[in-house]
Amino acid sequence: MAVPFSRPLIDDDVVAEVNDALLNTGWLTSGPKVRQLEAEIGAITGTPVLCVNSWTSGAMLMLRWLGVGPGDEVIVPAYTYAASALCAMNLGADVVMVDVGEDFCMDPAALGRAITPRTKAVIPVDVGGLPADYDALSAELRAHAGMLRPSNARQAALGRPLMLADAAHSIGASARGVPVGRLADVTVFSLHSVKNVTTGEGGAICLHLPQPFDDEAELAGLRALALNGQTKSAFEKNQPGAWRYDIVEFGLKVNLPDVNAAIGLAQIRKYQAELLPDRLRIVDRYRAAFAGKPWAILPPTSVDGRESSRHLFLLRIAGADEAMRDRIIERISAREVGVNVHYLPMPMLTLFRERGFRVADYPVAVDLYRNEITLPVYNGLTDAQVDEVVAAVSEAVEAELP
Ligand SMILES: *Cc1c(COP(=O)(O)O)cnc(C)c1O
Repeated sequence: MAVPFSRPLIDDDVVAEVNDALLNTGWLTSGPKVRQLEAEIGAITGTPVLCVNSWTSGAMLMLRWLGVGPGDEVIVPAYTYAASALCAMNLGADVVMVDVGEDFCMDPAALGRAITPRTKAVIPVDVGGLPADYDALSAELRAHAGMLRPSNARQAALGRPLMLADAAHSIGASARGVPVGRLADVTVFSLHSVKNVTTGEGGAICLHLPQPFDDEAELAGLRALALNGQTKSAFEKNQPGAWRYDIVEFGLKVNLPDVNAAIGLAQIRKYQAELLPDRLRIVDRYRAAFAGKPWAILPPTSVDGRESSRHLFLLRIAGADEAMRDRIIERISAREVGVNVHYLPMPMLTLFRERGFRVADYPVAVDLYRNEITLPVYNGLTDAQVDEVVAAVSEAVEAELP
């Protein structure tokens, strides 16, 4: 039985919603579907929401809003997808990488050691859907707030670096009952095809800024900033008599089209009632199956009140080194079961190596990476397929382990 690693949910509800966008609204780019998607995401997070065309562009938009650029530093974990760092590098800022803890997320103590007067933003990652430890990370930002050298009014009003959550994996997750979206100043979800909720390509920004910021007022400004700094969207200009507009600031063009939003809209409406519990079923089945295996190190899904959105199942193989892990993956792949590795620590990637990052500086990240295998988790994966993955993994591991 072939089991692909990932498959987006394209069911009758998605088809109906996309058809509605195509046939009934007469509108393709940002319009009513985007606004409905923003409202549905906002109902989960309890925040104002702005949809954009990717996580990466959403993070760039927020760093741009904060005025981050050359001479500034942005702190990211070494154990993540490269976009967490590229959003800052694209604005000319310097990336500072820190190591992670055993929960795969940014180590608060390592963050504390990395903060300098030039630190303008910190981007923790909710790896696999488990929220990073924002209480401990925020405490580090407050403890070092006096260091900040602000270069504009917004940075001065914030009075410390911005906490920007990379929540690409964690829509619907929470910490002690507080949903992701309200654990950091700014939270960005990815709606890319492999994520829990998808619009094909897309992202969503949630605002939860401290005093003196007004989230709704900032959202209105960001809406323009995401549309080339234009005061009216094409949808608004399309209303009779509403042709006049202005370009009020130097923005980006990163808005989400309505046809894309329709895909995610059909999914998010049943996300908490159906899709998230279905992920729990899959992850619980893996946990039960691997619980008796002495070589299986199970991923953290509930840690001190932090509840994962079960985006990825990050299995680790005790006793395996990198070469053995790779051989195990070859055996699993030979059975047509798709698995993956999350993540190659960023310093192992050419771009970052060439910029002087050294993998030896991130021992925990390397330790997590070298024996990690990510198993499929997505809506539509059947119990029989989960059992097939378990059988393929177990057979492969047990053939390799001494
Ligand atoms: C997918 C992902 C991103 C990038 O998302 P895009 O929407 O493709 O820009 C960023 N960070 C992490 C951790 C991701 O997994």
